[in-house]
Amino acid sequence: MKLILLGAPGSGKGTMAAVLKREYKITHISTGDIFRANIKEQTPLGIEAKKYIDQGALVPDELTISMVEDRLSQDDCANGYLLDGFPRTIAQAEKLDEMLAKSGSKIDAVINVTVPAEVIMERVVNRRVCLSCGESYNVVSRPTKVEGVCDVCGKEVVHRDDDKPETVKARLETYEKNTKPLIDFYADKGIVIEADNSQSPEHAFEQASAALAKMGF
Ligand code: AMP
Repeated sequence: MKLILLGAPGSGKGTMAAVLKREYKITHISTGDIFRANIKEQTPLGIEAKKYIDQGALVPDELTISMVEDRLSQDDCANGYLLDGFPRTIAQAEKLDEMLAKSGSKIDAVINVTVPAEVIMERVVNRRVCLSCGESYNVVSRPTKVEGVCDVCGKEVVHRDDDKPETVKARLETYEKNTKPLIDFYADKGIVIEADNSQSPEHAFEQASAALAKMGF
């Protein structure tokens, strides 16, 4: 099964990804996590990507696409995957279709995670993430047991630089302009599943899994 997760920053996409990964035992590929790992290691890709990420802008398509192409060629993707944070532009989506068509494959479903706009900013500024395993926390609703330490892997949990209010505003604008059009792009193919995350991640997951079951997954 090949899935894409769409959703604005702060929609709960990351939490949804963790649940889908666990329930469907599917390889989870987060382009944001890969960029952050590269930034931490100060690789050439990380140094270049940071310039854009810190502004709340998108990393150029060329860099992002070749990184994803490389990742999808690895063995753990052979039986499917969940793409989280990719594609984020129509050009990326078209390139992904092209890549998949080469092997006679296609995306099975696109899960669109939604929450009302007013909760997004609050969620994102309160969000803390583990730089090692990607687990996500919230200082108000889901704090770590020990401050700054990941409950899952014991590594450092931080407030992402791009989760500061000024950058979140820019990221939301980037989302509206570049990524939202992808909903129509995939709706035209009839493969969009809506997951309303305004109540709880469990509720959103139930909605998504019921729709996936109808599609035979
Ligand atoms: P995320 O963790 O998915 O919110 O991603 C964090 C940041 O990484 C984004 O705000 C972008 O700057 C960059 N990024 C992640 N995925 C992509 C992508 N598919 N295309 C371009 N930039 C991306």
